[in-house]
Amino acid sequence: MAGFSSASGTTTKSWFKNPVDGDRYGAGRRIPRPMALPDLLSVRKAIDDARVARNRWKYIVVHNSGTRQGNARIFDYYHRHVRKMPNGLAYHFVIGNGTSTGNGQIEIGNRWVKQLAGGHVHSDYLNYIGLGICLVGDFNRDLPTHAQLEALDELIRYLPTKSRKSGGTLSIVLGHKEINPRPTDCPGNRFPLSWLHRTFTNCEPTNIAAIETILAAERSSKRRASFAGLLAL
Ligand SMILES: [Zn+2]
Repeated sequence: MAGFSSASGTTTKSWFKNPVDGDRYGAGRRIPRPMALPDLLSVRKAIDDARVARNRWKYIVVHNSGTRQGNARIFDYYHRHVRKMPNGLAYHFVIGNGTSTGNGQIEIGNRWVKQLAGGHVHSDYLNYIGLGICLVGDFNRDLPTHAQLEALDELIRYLPTKSRKSGGTLSIVLGHKEINPRPTDCPGNRFPLSWLHRTFTNCEPTNIAAIETILAAERSSKRRASFAGLLAL
């Protein structure tokens, strides 16, 4: 599968039978880690190999695919050929749900490898400074699997390490609907945003206010917003 690095998740076989309810493990049943250590290390290596500019990624935006199945290759095709996005896959990372890839499997998109702006938020500026992570699933109907949330947690915790090493600050973690200038229900009404914010507590009102300022500037601009000007905000 050219263009994507990936690693298999380790799970029980239960998700083959019941892919969308993979998080419903019975009491006392062992919850598998989403990824075996060697696979996790290969994802970490792919993350490390990218040439990340200092303080480039200020936001991490969480999405759902809105589909019950899918993977990076399928979404790449859709974004490239149907949505006509020249850089293809709009997200930097995709986390599988056990249908088209493993449950909790992390796929790394070209936009991470090449450090390109995302195509996942309705704002050029926010796409430039916002990483997109898409969980496969329709979370208006289903819940994300436990393995997906574990993988998301693991991935987000690993990503800011890079900028911390180079003296940067932690990224702000938000659901798509919390940052998009246009109304959207992504990542779905059943996605546990409260868990996300409890887990990543750097989502403070002041940060939200800063986003609002940026978006207002972008909306009021007749021309396409100037990166140079906005970056100075
Ligand atoms: Zn979204």
